Amino acid sequence: DLFPVTRALLSVSDKTGLIELGQALSARGVELLSTGGSAKALRDAGLDVKDVAEVTGFPEMMDGRVKTLHPVVHGGLLAVRDNDAHVAAMDEHGIGGIDLLVVNLYPFEETVAKGADYATCIENIDIGGPAMIRSAAKNHAFVNVVTDVSDYDALLAELDANDGQTTLAFRKGLAQTAYGRTAAYDTAVSTWMAGAIDLDTPRRRSFAGTVRQELRYGENPHQTASFYTDGSDRPGVATATQHQGKELSYNNINDTDAAFELVAEFDPADGPAVAIIKHANPCGVARGDTLLEAYTKAFDCDRTSAFGGIVALNMPLDEATAKAIAEIFTEVVIAPGASDAARAVFAAKKNLRLLTTDGLPDPAAPVTTYRQVAGGMLVQDKDTGRVAADALRVVTKVQPTDAQMADLQFAWKVAKHVKSNAIVYVKDGATVGVGAGQMSRLDSALIAAKKAERMAEAMDLAAPLTIGSAVASDAFFPFADGLLEAAAAGATCVIQPGGSMRDDEVIAAADEAGIAMVFTGMRHFKH
Ligand code: 5GP
Repeated sequence: DLFPVTRALLSVSDKTGLIELGQALSARGVELLSTGGSAKALRDAGLDVKDVAEVTGFPEMMDGRVKTLHPVVHGGLLAVRDNDAHVAAMDEHGIGGIDLLVVNLYPFEETVAKGADYATCIENIDIGGPAMIRSAAKNHAFVNVVTDVSDYDALLAELDANDGQTTLAFRKGLAQTAYGRTAAYDTAVSTWMAGAIDLDTPRRRSFAGTVRQELRYGENPHQTASFYTDGSDRPGVATATQHQGKELSYNNINDTDAAFELVAEFDPADGPAVAIIKHANPCGVARGDTLLEAYTKAFDCDRTSAFGGIVALNMPLDEATAKAIAEIFTEVVIAPGASDAARAVFAAKKNLRLLTTDGLPDPAAPVTTYRQVAGGMLVQDKDTGRVAADALRVVTKVQPTDAQMADLQFAWKVAKHVKSNAIVYVKDGATVGVGAGQMSRLDSALIAAKKAERMAEAMDLAAPLTIGSAVASDAFFPFADGLLEAAAAGATCVIQPGGSMRDDEVIAAADEAGIAMVFTGMRHFKH
């Protein structure tokens, strides 16, 4: 399965390492063919290189749209070398075999990321490159296809190890990488077009991604994993700068994302907010007059769970807050910036990972989410739903006060980011009890209240902070029991979607308990 490399075609947009590769191939007696810009670069470096235009007998034309799209090129890549009819066709039409194709594509993703206009993006869709890659990859029985600059060294090592030849296994690996590249490339085009054109019908989506990081393992040590970025420059964990600490793990990335997406719901114009996350659920979220106050209030919601947590801020990290965070073991802190003084505080904490971004994630950004199921995939728009203040409907005899209304809306925002069934108690702009991920809404209400009781004991408070709190439920109460449990824990007002068959019973129970209840008309399941 060894096959020699005697003739190579090099056509690259990213010219990194091109000269060195050309020299190394030349030194190994490989004949070089190349396209306009690549040929010029090689020739300027003193290498002997033949223009593809000379081989095809056609000039490059139409602004480079047609350079290598010719039977002499594709025949040279696709011919089955031990098939007599193919060899005869090569002879008859003067087609020379191409054993090595080195291509990297027009920088479409980078062009989009730079915010280029529509026509510029279209012009940066490479046509001949992917066509050649696909031809060469299909014919990997004989042909090597290199689509990544980082594979140049491996190619040369392979040639040296096999006396100027490559093994079939090596060529198969290259082909597999190559098809991954063309697939990701076309998907990037499709994804960009989905945003760049206006369609009123739902469109089919595909996933475009490039590996940003090979992770040490996945959710558990026996699972392999990698972190892909989608090429967008949206602020978030994928585009953040890490200043210190160990490499992020799979769970770190997942939790950091949950924390940052949650805190981004709180507009910095309305003041500082902090979210602390454990296992993708918040164990404390709070606003404050200062970032430090917000952090302290968030921490006080569930000090036990906050240990080893992930902290997200909606404003740049300041020194005072950094000092408070550094007092306990924290895995990751993410914020839209950090002051020098704050960074100096963290510098002593070698294991603490600090990530900063150029802004907050946009909670309204139209993003698609994916979930794998056996034999398929579920695709949906991200939950960007928000209920306008004037769409809230008070359904009880008692009206919430302005302060209660503010806490209800706060609780509602947090509940959207808590795994269902979600029950969130809030008082004075801070969560005081979070019940997450239970199979019964009643249990979520009970657990949140129980945790609040435990915190009250730990902090030597006279009573749990759920007394006089506002409570949010991510979906309607199917029975009155969950609501009654919240009332028993001291909640004096409730926010929930409404829409249950037994809404009347639930409203009657609220009236009976003398509490105010608001319907949102929108549900926020999260699983
Ligand atoms: P060069 O800088 O060598 O002039 O151009 C290299 C780029 O042209 C590579 O990114 C390669 O994928 C692309 N390319 C090669 N052949 C064709 C073609 O026939 N049409 C288009 N649109 N691009 C091509």
